[in-house]
Amino acid sequence: MKLILLGAPGSGKGTQAALISEKLNLPHISTGDIFRDNIKRKTEIGLKIKSIIDGGDLCPDDLTIEIVKQRLSEKDCENGYLLDGFPRNITQAKALDESAAPDKVIELVIPLEKIEKRITGRRSCVKCKSSFHVDLIGNRKDCPTCGGELFVRDDDNPTSVKERLAVYKTQTAPLIEYYAKQGKLVPINADLPIEEVFADILKVVK
Ligand code: ADP
Ligand code: ZN
Repeated sequence: MKLILLGAPGSGKGTQAALISEKLNLPHISTGDIFRDNIKRKTEIGLKIKSIIDGGDLCPDDLTIEIVKQRLSEKDCENGYLLDGFPRNITQAKALDESAAPDKVIELVIPLEKIEKRITGRRSCVKCKSSFHVDLIGNRKDCPTCGGELFVRDDDNPTSVKERLAVYKTQTAPLIEYYAKQGKLVPINADLPIEEVFADILKVVK
């Protein structure tokens, strides 16, 4: 099964992707995680994109599309994929349609006014990439899942969040109609506890 998780920043894509990936045995491919890994390892790509990501803008399409194509050609993607954070605009969606079109697109729906609080209270794990809200974990510094160190993403600050939301509205939200027209869109209410959102997703992908 080829699945895309679509939704605004902070809608819970990463959290749900980890759960779905484990349950359905699909490789979880997060372009954000791939980019952040490159930044951390100071690769050529990482050095090129750090300021773009920190500012909340999109990385160049040609680079992003190439990275995803490469990743999708690996053996573990033979039976499908779970994409999180890609595609993020129409150009990327068309490129994916030409190579490995999705079967379903799960849209995590959340009122935009809830997002800022979700993101600015977010702590991410260096090791397993999970993220948790401070409302849930308080000020603990170790990941509840794997014990890894928790950190605040450089782009999880109010200025970048504003830009990321603007980019989402203008560039990514049009994908909702794009996939609806293809009959692949499945909207899911993401303004619910993690387990309920997950259960609703499982109902439509099983
Ligand atoms: P979130 O969904 O919480 O905003 P991500 O981890 O998916 O975070 O993405 C973080 C950043 O990585 C984006 O703001 C953007 O700069 C870059 N990025 C991720 N995916 C893409 C993509 N498909 N195209 C361009 N840039 C991307
Ligand atoms: Zn962890």
